[in-house]
Amino acid sequence: MSIVGNIRGIAKGMSITFGEILQPTVVENYPDGPGPQRGAVFEPRYRGAHVLQRDENGLEKCVACFLCAAACPSNCIYIEAAENTEEQRISSAERYAKVYNIDYNRCIFCGYCVEACPTDAITHGHGFELATLNATNLVMRKEDMLVQIETLTATK
Ligand code: SF4
Ligand code: SF4
Repeated sequence: MSIVGNIRGIAKGMSITFGEILQPTVVENYPDGPGPQRGAVFEPRYRGAHVLQRDENGLEKCVACFLCAAACPSNCIYIEAAENTEEQRISSAERYAKVYNIDYNRCIFCGYCVEACPTDAITHGHGFELATLNATNLVMRKEDMLVQIETLTATK
């Protein structure tokens, strides 16, 4: 490239730099912003902490089919299945997940589990404040991820 071409390239780059210097600074005011996300802004498709969903009757959507665990490339989903009974119905199918853990020490937030789920039981939420100094805290249990009944009725 000629010297003139080099100078033209540098001038073009610097014009963008100086143009941006004059623009107002745009920052996300996290963690001092408003709302439950404290100022953090997400794209709708952001893959955050998982949520285990309930159906319109409040029953757990997970039917313990293990397809999410089979699809997980990190092998970080642990499920124990149990049978529903007439006296105790947890999901609308034959079985439900008595134990459902995701180990976030290993999860890579690829979304394969969400794609594999036939009942839309597991989804990605927008939870992102997962950092901890204790690795044990990164094993999320069903109780941590399950939509609360109160939340369900509040959104109806
Ligand atoms: S997001 Fe990916 S790595 Fe994480 S639990 Fe789901 S399938 Fe496994
Ligand atoms: S979350 Fe979905 S794929 Fe995983 S066990 Fe439950 S129903 Fe099956």
